Amino acid sequence: METVTGLSSSETVSLFQRYVIPNYVRYPINLVRGEGSFVWDSEGRRYLDLFPGWGCNLLGHCPPRVVAAVQEQLATLIHVPNTWHMDVQGRWAQMLSERSFGGQAFFCNSGAEANEAAIKLARLYGSPQRYKIITFEGGFHGRTLGALSATAQPKYHHGLGPLVAGFVYAPFNDLEAVRSRIDNETCAILLEPIQGEGGVRPARPEFLRGLRQLADEHQLLLIFDEVQTGCGRTGHWFAYQKFDVVPDVMTLAKGLCGGLAGGALLARPEIASYLKPGMHASTFGGNPIAARAGIAFLETIEAERLLEHVQRLETVFRQRLEPLAGTLDIVKEVRIFGGMIGLELTIDGSPAVAQCLEKGVLINCTQQTVLRLLPALNLSEELAHEGCDVLISVLEELRDNS
Ligand SMILES: *Cc1c(COP(=O)(O)O)cnc(C)c1O
Repeated sequence: METVTGLSSSETVSLFQRYVIPNYVRYPINLVRGEGSFVWDSEGRRYLDLFPGWGCNLLGHCPPRVVAAVQEQLATLIHVPNTWHMDVQGRWAQMLSERSFGGQAFFCNSGAEANEAAIKLARLYGSPQRYKIITFEGGFHGRTLGALSATAQPKYHHGLGPLVAGFVYAPFNDLEAVRSRIDNETCAILLEPIQGEGGVRPARPEFLRGLRQLADEHQLLLIFDEVQTGCGRTGHWFAYQKFDVVPDVMTLAKGLCGGLAGGALLARPEIASYLKPGMHASTFGGNPIAARAGIAFLETIEAERLLEHVQRLETVFRQRLEPLAGTLDIVKEVRIFGGMIGLELTIDGSPAVAQCLEKGVLINCTQQTVLRLLPALNLSEELAHEGCDVLISVLEELRDNS
């Protein structure tokens, strides 16, 4: 396949060995092109991508409307600092606000950055005496030190201490544990409505309702990290709408710009006013390219009725995968929320990922035993079936060999 450098997969692996810090475990494959739910490597092999962009490519690879909007914007205005007004950033904020809870937006470039903004906003809101934020075991909020300190998973903390102070960890879905951790220094509760990296684990609806009540009783901010669950992933614009529990603050990234880097925090206007001029900033946050991509992303979801389509996809995945929990003893539980799919196995999931890859299907494994699919929202039902065929055959082989 014609590529920019003309390098093969093995030549590319050599470059990485020599010049790129090995802080990721990478497959020895050089991906060079993507279209919809397919990607190609430099040897011309095609893969069905059921985990496009680690959940970021909600419209698949190179979605035409986003590509066209970005190409046009690139030739018009690439970047101006936030000392100026930009109509496209204003319109983007309006579109997000109107599709959520009427909040105001702060823009940044990633999920971790959005959560940093939320942490700072919570502390400003609680200042001077309240600064503690309750977060949850199994949660994931990003890799910057603040977001990492909010992430109650010791495996990510090794060697990095001391962490940022002020985070209080509680077991997920345990309302009494949260109640017992609230004191007169607590300012916020931060969680994902469905834990993503933690293994596609949903909050119980009554737990979220209870948190809303506790937050109201104690004047705490209820902050939802919707970096993975937001932007249509669950078949709703935002997962909180599925649970019908409205947060005070919400963080977004991953799919927000249809595959380009972008992050945002949305806050109710009374809360947003705690961020005053000069208190927080992001140089590239809300830049015209991200804004145009973000707008084109939202327009595509609506023009192609993708929130409705996700419900159909959910039906296909449920019909094909849920029965496995009863028929294959290596499948413990299947958890599906729109386009967010987890299969918890009784065995290590990495051989399943490797064998799917060998058969040309890309999936992910998190928490060792949970196979995770975050397909594009515009995946066709036909390709969903094809992906399920491969996944099921791999699981059957693994069952036979275990
Ligand atoms: C991926 C993720 C993050 C971190 O996002 P980055 O863009 O990698 O910083 C934060 N929270 C959740 C829920 C995520 O899934």
